[in-house]
Amino acid sequence: MTEDIGLDTKILKGIPVSNHIRSNLSKDIKILAQYGIIPGLAVVLVGDDPASKVYVRNKEDVFKKYNCCSKTYNLPNETTETELLKLISSLNSDSNFHGILVQLPLPKQIDNQKILLQISPDKDVDGFHPINLGNLLSGRPSFIPCTPNGVIQILDYYNIKVSGRHAVIIGRSNIVGKPMFALLAQKFEVGNATVTICHTGTKDLKKITKQADIIIAAVGIPNLISADMISKGVDIIDVGINRIYDKSKRGFSLVGDVDYNSVLGKANSITPVPGGVGPMTISMLLSNTVKSAMRLIHS
Ligand code: NAD
Repeated sequence: MTEDIGLDTKILKGIPVSNHIRSNLSKDIKILAQYGIIPGLAVVLVGDDPASKVYVRNKEDVFKKYNCCSKTYNLPNETTETELLKLISSLNSDSNFHGILVQLPLPKQIDNQKILLQISPDKDVDGFHPINLGNLLSGRPSFIPCTPNGVIQILDYYNIKVSGRHAVIIGRSNIVGKPMFALLAQKFEVGNATVTICHTGTKDLKKITKQADIIIAAVGIPNLISADMISKGVDIIDVGINRIYDKSKRGFSLVGDVDYNSVLGKANSITPVPGGVGPMTISMLLSNTVKSAMRLIHS
């Protein structure tokens, strides 16, 4: 009997993929500048959720670095739905902005769905408007939600075979799990997989993850997927970002939904947390905003 030698698990870092995408975008940004167009994003932030503030600041920094504009509209926590709808209406018709993003979560008095519906589908760079989600499902995507698109870019960059393989997605949120399903199941270049989607109603998660060639974990439970739940040679994309509070200077550390150390040597590849899918999301937002601005010179 031959000895079962552990695999040398490949670490799929997001930064090189993100840099590759951004350097391609720089070319389009230069073309737009020749037409006097600066890709512009309006970010609407309601309330003072600390995590949201960090995300928004990171977006501003990246947009600035690439000679694009990201303007944040900070609204108080007591903002009414009517006030927010009115602001979005005015942003829809403001030609300085090619993209509008409403930072979630919103305060309780505001209906998320109503707000997402108000954003013009032509400026919906998050890709959450039902028209854009419908386009994605019908195989003619316009704006693809940023995080699932970032996952596709990682799979593509690292030449992870997708077609014909069994992809298991864990999580069915509108922002990650469902669009991820739509992308992987399509007959796209990075797609054409047999896709299973698991969620809180799934009876025996381990039985299903064991059958996966590719696992996409988007749950929000630290270290949910352990080595005994996977088969040897699986490719893992860990979307989860979870805080584990500790006694470090920062007060917490970040971990994914996959028990990273336990799957090393068994998985073929895995994205780290942090430094995997995380860096992709802002790049895909920049990409959607530039794409939206490019429509002006192609129309
Ligand atoms: P969500 O809470 O909206 O959805 C979680 C999903 O997990 C639900 O559909 C639920 O059915 C499923 N789920 C919960 N417990 C389960 C279990 N025990 N077994 C199987 N399924 C279960 O979360 P979300 O917004 O999709 O985010 C998921 C994770 O991804 C979070 O950690 C979030 O922080 C992270 N995230 C990261 C990025 C990024 O840029 N990398 C972007 C978005 C979300």
